[in-house]
Amino acid sequence: MIIELMIRNGRVVDPSTGINGLYDIAVAEGKIISIAPPGSIPDEGFAKVLDASGCLVTPGLIDLHTHVYEGVHEMGVRPDVVGIDQGVTTVADAGSAGAGNFDDFISRSVKNNATEVLAWLNIAKPGLAEGRSELADLKNLNAHEALACIERHPEVICGIKARMSGSVVKGNGIFPLSVAKAVAREAQLPVMVHIGNAPPELGGVLDLLEEGDVVTHAFHGKAGGILGPEGRLIPQAEEALDRGVRFDVGHGSSSFSFQTMKQAQQLGITPYSISTDLYLENWLRGPVYSLTMTMSKFLLLGYPIEQIIQWTTQAPAQILRRANTIGTLREGTIADISILQIVEQPVEFVDSERQVLSGSKLIQAQYIIKSGEIYPCKQ
Ligand SMILES: [Zn+2]
Repeated sequence: MIIELMIRNGRVVDPSTGINGLYDIAVAEGKIISIAPPGSIPDEGFAKVLDASGCLVTPGLIDLHTHVYEGVHEMGVRPDVVGIDQGVTTVADAGSAGAGNFDDFISRSVKNNATEVLAWLNIAKPGLAEGRSELADLKNLNAHEALACIERHPEVICGIKARMSGSVVKGNGIFPLSVAKAVAREAQLPVMVHIGNAPPELGGVLDLLEEGDVVTHAFHGKAGGILGPEGRLIPQAEEALDRGVRFDVGHGSSSFSFQTMKQAQQLGITPYSISTDLYLENWLRGPVYSLTMTMSKFLLLGYPIEQIIQWTTQAPAQILRRANTIGTLREGTIADISILQIVEQPVEFVDSERQVLSGSKLIQAQYIIKSGEIYPCKQ
């Protein structure tokens, strides 16, 4: 077998296998064939050698919450722009498309990219393509069409998205979520719930969620979030966590607060996963910019890099139920690998409340290997 690529001398960090140290990685036929101490794989017959000295070599990063459907005007970004260009091998679109336009989403956004694109199917038929109040009109809810769509695209659809905040559902309360849950149960998939301003009240939303379901925007800084007035976790949030409901970051333009995150940190509450909620505006003008920028904010907040890598590789792979194939560097799996560098430089980090924190470390993506192919990243 000809080794197509050798990645030499990097610090390999793979939380899924517990590997953390200097290793070489050999890739052939698009798969990882060996992870071994530096220099121990014979130095012959490689098509390419990549020197990763001083870099972190991790499973390909996974962004659980993005908007990559260009059918949604002024929002959808091309998948590769927030994917391989930024060191991310897999992105999940979070409800940009619903059953009414999912086939268009497949042809525009899933095909013809180097980045792997998965999706949370919006329980509302038009997704976000007809505006941001997609659950205000109950005619947009059709469980049969959603189930038929899931059946047509099992390789892409990883769950159901329901956006449960006042401007989205208007007077419909938690009813749209109960429909999303019914569809998800039938299809044996998780639900991702967007939370924001009430109504509906967060407690009622959380009460409907089960093990494996995801709350995105969990650490927003608006009123009515997971923390009550005394700064304690509201009881329904505590119960949801005990049931195995997963709290995801979903940074976005208005959904991540340093203050909320620090308060949660003091209570011992951590995210299950870090995602960006990247779309055109917050990619171009911030405050999100990229997954690695979002990860850098967690480095600033004091979380260890190994933990941050777990939250962006193994954890989202588990949520997406693809932990055997992505988010891991096990020998024999697809060669999806991120090569990152922690750069020392002064940097101002901004959250969605426009609070600024100064830091000195930035995680930057240098190269990405997607299915064995190397791509340089763009900063
Ligand atoms: Zn979103």
